[in-house]
Amino acid sequence: MNNYFIILASGQSKRFNSKKPKQFITYRNKALFEHSLDKAISSKLFKKIIIVVMNKNLIKKKYGKNVIIIKGGKERSDSSLIALKYIKKFKPNNVLIHDAARPNFSIDLLSKLITSLKKNKASIPVINSKDSIKYKVKNQLFNLNRNNSFLTQTPQAFRFKDLYDLSRKQKNNITDEATMFIENNLKIKFISGENLNNKITFKEDIKDKKTYFGIGFDIHRLIKNKKLYLGGIKIPFHSGLKGHSDGDVIIHSVIDSILGAMRKKDIGSLFPDNINKFKNIRSTKMLKPVVELLNKNDFYINNLDINLICEQPKVSKFRNKIIKSLSSLLHLDKELINLKGKTVEKLGLIGKEKAIACEVICSISK
Ligand code: ZN
Repeated sequence: MNNYFIILASGQSKRFNSKKPKQFITYRNKALFEHSLDKAISSKLFKKIIIVVMNKNLIKKKYGKNVIIIKGGKERSDSSLIALKYIKKFKPNNVLIHDAARPNFSIDLLSKLITSLKKNKASIPVINSKDSIKYKVKNQLFNLNRNNSFLTQTPQAFRFKDLYDLSRKQKNNITDEATMFIENNLKIKFISGENLNNKITFKEDIKDKKTYFGIGFDIHRLIKNKKLYLGGIKIPFHSGLKGHSDGDVIIHSVIDSILGAMRKKDIGSLFPDNINKFKNIRSTKMLKPVVELLNKNDFYINNLDINLICEQPKVSKFRNKIIKSLSSLLHLDKELINLKGKTVEKLGLIGKEKAIACEVICSISK
C-alpha cells in the first residue's frame, strides 16, 4: 500500500465569485476540501495525503502527521508538479490527484481506482454527458456524438513514475492529468465515474437543501344529518363534522401543517369564514391552492405524520383509503404518509363521540 493522495486546493475559482477561496468555503458543515480529506483518511488507502494550497495560513487545524500541507504554484499543472516532486522522496507506487472542488465522490471509487492500477498505468473516472453538446468550427455548428463523448472527473489515478516523468516534460497548462496521457498517446483505463461527483463551480452548486417543519391541529363537532369526510373521502358514520366547509379535520390539519412549514400563516387567512363563496366548500378544493403555493415556492413535502383523535370510526378500516386519497391530492408517494388512530379513553367531547380532532406534522424542503 504505497499510495499517495494529492488534493489540489490552490485554484483561483474565478467563476465562483466569493472573497474566500472556493476550496475553503463551508459546505455541509465543513470546509469544502475537508470532504475529500476525510474520505481519503477514512479509506485507509493512503500513506500520506498532500493538500496543495496558495496560502498555508488558510488552514488552521491540525490533521495529523500523515496530512501534509504545501504551497502550490500559479497554475493547476504547476501545483500538481510541486506535489509530485514533494512526494518523490517517499518512493510512491501510486498517486491519486484530486480537485478539492469535488467533495462528493465515494470511498468505493478510491479503491476501484487503486485496484485498476494493478493492470493500468492511468485510471480515470468518466461519465456520459447528460446534455447534448455542440461545438463550433468557423461559424458552423456540429453535434458531438453523446455515446462517444465522456466527461472526465477526479480523483485520477496513476502509477507515480509514469505521471512524474510526463509532468516534468509537460510545457503547457493542462486542465487535468488525463489530458497529458492523451496528448502523449498513452493508454488510459476509463472506469465509471459518479454522477454525484460534480465539480462545485458556481455559488448555486453549494446551495444546500433547507428543511422546515409545520404542525397542524383541528377539531370539529359531530352533528346528525351531515356526511362525514376524512382525508377527502366519505366515510359511513352516524354523524358528520360541523363546519363552514365539509369539516374534514384531516385535510384542515394537513393544510395548516404545510402552511406552517412554509411560514404562511394559517388556513383561516387563506379561506376566511366570513366569505360566502367558501361556504360548504369541499376541503379537497381547499388543498389545491396550498399545493400550488408549495410548488410556486419550490418546496416539496418530505413526509406527513397524522394523528386522528376519535373514539369512532376505527382508523384501521379506512387507513389505506385515506392515505391513497391524500397521496393523490398532494401528488405525494403513499410511503411518505403515516396515519395513526388515537382514542381518548371515552373522555370528554371526543370520548363521547361528539367531536373528532386531528393533528399533523409535516416536513418540507427546498
Ligand atoms: Zn376545520
